[in-house]
Amino acid sequence: METEFFFPDPAFGIYAIRGYHGCFHLLVDNARHEAVLIDAGLVGEMSQLKHVLKEHAMDWSGIRAILLTHGHLDHTGNLARLKELTSAPILAHPLEQPHIDGHYPYTGAARLCGLMEATGRHAFHYRGATIDQFLTPEMELPYWGGLRVLHLPGHAEGHCAFYSDRFDLLFSGDLFASYWFSVHLPPSFLNSCPEKFPVSLQRVRELNPRRVIPNHYDRLDSELHRRRLQCLIQ
Ligand SMILES: [Zn+2]
Ligand SMILES: [Zn+2]
Repeated sequence: METEFFFPDPAFGIYAIRGYHGCFHLLVDNARHEAVLIDAGLVGEMSQLKHVLKEHAMDWSGIRAILLTHGHLDHTGNLARLKELTSAPILAHPLEQPHIDGHYPYTGAARLCGLMEATGRHAFHYRGATIDQFLTPEMELPYWGGLRVLHLPGHAEGHCAFYSDRFDLLFSGDLFASYWFSVHLPPSFLNSCPEKFPVSLQRVRELNPRRVIPNHYDRLDSELHRRRLQCLIQ
């Protein structure tokens, strides 16, 4: 299966590691012979990730950091295992630690999300992990030619996106989902603080990135996802 996003600069690569519930991403910096992960998937994706690393003659130690958009189970299922294999630090917003630990006090409609996660944690023998470095808004990260942290709450209190100025590309986490039959904000039962969506969406409108890569999508086409997001939030 095709995993690599089309990308104009051969020095950098984006690989989608696809699982049951969506994707997470391996960003490769070929010149520095290193990589960074955005999110960690749910279950069953590790062999795909290993395969992509092997194609780049890299082992687990080539992964320099694990960045989390947020702490929902579909983004943290492999987190503990990946931290052990790579020895890489986990970077996330501090408000996501209770999600990672499985202790977030869901209220209202989002209690369904908590129930689904509890079931998943049990079924997949989930193990949590500790955030090593807290993400803060507008923080500049030294990975993949530079990534800036955008704090975009709504789906989760500590939900963050990562913006590459160099490629005008936003890794938008679960800000929206992008499928040809359905482009949508996350359904209400998955959102912990939906009242914060308008400010987050306004932030993305102002940024107006040329390329967007969410975690839940169909095609490996970042400009298509940008067009879909534009239609959704205009
Ligand atoms: Zn989520
Ligand atoms: Zn998700």
